[in-house]
Amino acid sequence: MKGGLVTRSGEVTPFEGRPTERERGAWAVVAAIRAYVGELAGHGLSRFGVEPSGVGLAVPGIVTSSMALYSANIGWRDVPAEDFVPGGVPARLGHDVRTGGLAESVFGAGRDTADFLFLPIGTGIAGAVVVRGEPYGGAHGWGGEIGHTPVWPSGETCACGQIGCLETYASASAVARRFERRSGRTATAKEVVALAVSGDAAAREVFDEAIEALAISLASYTLLLDPSLIVIGGGLGEAGPVLFEPLRERLAARLAFCEPPELRPAALGVHAGMLGAALLGWQAAGEPGVGVDWTAETLLGGR
Ligand SMILES: [Zn+2]
Repeated sequence: MKGGLVTRSGEVTPFEGRPTERERGAWAVVAAIRAYVGELAGHGLSRFGVEPSGVGLAVPGIVTSSMALYSANIGWRDVPAEDFVPGGVPARLGHDVRTGGLAESVFGAGRDTADFLFLPIGTGIAGAVVVRGEPYGGAHGWGGEIGHTPVWPSGETCACGQIGCLETYASASAVARRFERRSGRTATAKEVVALAVSGDAAAREVFDEAIEALAISLASYTLLLDPSLIVIGGGLGEAGPVLFEPLRERLAARLAFCEPPELRPAALGVHAGMLGAALLGWQAAGEPGVGVDWTAETLLGGR
């Protein structure tokens, strides 16, 4: 886990990460988070002379603003927000990807639009559906699981148990796994992209299928929600024009009667989750307006 202190004016002091202690069980993770939050509060007290006004936490799994309902990875169920913080500090929770989407929405790549999709492509693929400026979690909290929408009806079985999920073809780990299976060589997703550019046939096929899978999913998303923008982040999102140019073409080719939305790289990188959590912290403090004047330049400056 990673954390930091963020002032009202958007000055960020990031802190060294800590292990979640997941192997010791769900309650050990909750205790480790509470201890880390206490440690950050102590740093804040010595640096600024005040206790924190609020705490925001971006957590995995199914989550509401006041309760971490379930995480398959960590194993917790129904943990209230206040259990994650030392006594009395107001706290608010957010889903990890939607929290990143909130930060991209308020002062990142989506700041000039209210309706967009934030799609980080890493080990897995999840999306933050941003509607009217707010990340939308749906009726049960799993809204945005675009990584598990089917793209090939008779395709590979996904780790989730379904058939032909987007994540099975287009996540960074899928690209690496599929390249190894096809070529007998091991390479990271980033290396596969570089090999594809240099003309390696197996790498080209695998990367091409990843782009095709993304185009299929994004065409469905575009037809359902009519976003003005799709923001792509995560490791593969940093691939640049080699990803964006063919993906733009494929997406446009799949849409007959509507304009494809603009595709744009994420602005906040790996810091999106922490910065979004800072916005939640200020919301918990009863100051929802804090953050609208922050800029990505100020927030990421000096690092
Ligand atoms: Zn799946």
